[in-house]
Amino acid sequence: MKFFFPDSQDQVDPGFHFVTEERDPFRVRQRDDQYAHEVLTQAPFDGLLVSKAIVDGTAAGTGKYTVAQRHRLYREGARRFFRLDHGHTPLEIMGDCGAFSYVTEEYPPYSVDEVIDFYDGCGFHYGIAVDHVIFQYEPKTTRDDKRAEEWVRRQDITLDLAEKFWQRCKARRVSFAPLGVAQGWSPQSYADAVKTLQDIGYQRIALGGMVPLKTPEILACLAAIDQVRDHDTTRFHLLGVSRCDEVRTFADYGVTSFDSTSPFRQAFKDDRDNYYTPTGTYVALRVPQVDGNAKLKARIRSGEISQNRALELERTALTRLRQYDADEIDIDPVVHALDEYSAVWDGKSDRSSQYRATLADRPWRACACDLCKTIGIEIVIFRGSERNKRRGFHNLYVFEQRLRAQQGRTPCDQDPT
Ligand SMILES: [Zn+2]
Repeated sequence: MKFFFPDSQDQVDPGFHFVTEERDPFRVRQRDDQYAHEVLTQAPFDGLLVSKAIVDGTAAGTGKYTVAQRHRLYREGARRFFRLDHGHTPLEIMGDCGAFSYVTEEYPPYSVDEVIDFYDGCGFHYGIAVDHVIFQYEPKTTRDDKRAEEWVRRQDITLDLAEKFWQRCKARRVSFAPLGVAQGWSPQSYADAVKTLQDIGYQRIALGGMVPLKTPEILACLAAIDQVRDHDTTRFHLLGVSRCDEVRTFADYGVTSFDSTSPFRQAFKDDRDNYYTPTGTYVALRVPQVDGNAKLKARIRSGEISQNRALELERTALTRLRQYDADEIDIDPVVHALDEYSAVWDGKSDRSSQYRATLADRPWRACACDLCKTIGIEIVIFRGSERNKRRGFHNLYVFEQRLRAQQGRTPCDQDPT
């Protein structure tokens, strides 16, 4: 089972100094900052999923690339741009269109040839056909039902584009492996789409629109698909779905890869599951920067709290966290400092018992990833992108370990696919 991490240009600055919070004055972002696969000795994924919508940007402003970065990717190709050879593990690149970015549009904004230019021009290993997402899941609604009119339209668009994509890939003798996309709203409609894609000639098929589905719903779709799947040749990629506990079942249904951002994003988007361990999660310890917190800045402006007082509380919290990690002080003064600071920047949620759990167990000491070993307690501090992204990379590392454990093999084993 291969895990692809969707690229959003997430990198960290290896020269960042955690105590002074300063960067090397000569740092050049595009040269010095590092991807997860460069920072960690063992890459925490098998490859990257690169979306055309993220690279090119859209009217909705989802682009994560500057004009210069975009040009460099097109000019240098993915291997050089993502510095795949600088990492310690060989990685693959899969391209897609980023259908979520145009989900509200009538029709996908990209032509088949434009997308092939992107995949082939950048030297990707796999390229996913242009598709149009169906969000709804109604297992009992059939194709002829009036309710399904728009879903049928989208499925037909997706299958029509898949056929064109297949023909153009053959005619242009592309160097990447093409994937067709099955979109559906029910187990039966997914199965119908997969059957059509197999008839076109696809052996690799991506299953889209499953992000909002519950695990039993995904399994129901896979079971229906299994009735039509060519068991010898067809393999599936699950778009945006990570259910680590189900990998064995997924594999039995012919799933050989998936992609997901959640281990990374939970590090700084989730309310409590911020730091992964092999058996659970912990909340990260929130110490926002005084000048980076909008609510606190407003309070300072209105005279509700003095800036000096806020800076003092922030500094005390950080100092005590480091003293605790050096075994110089006990838990209580640390939680007290976190609470006191929280009262001025948050004032609503009481996280002290969750903070206690994180501090008491010191999970970063048990983690073998390069980041926890190097930066210690800083990894569980919820503060600024340098810490938060490193915690995201750590989560990817743990996620990869869990995935391998589920499959009963070590990360060094070769994937038969
Ligand atoms: Zn770690």
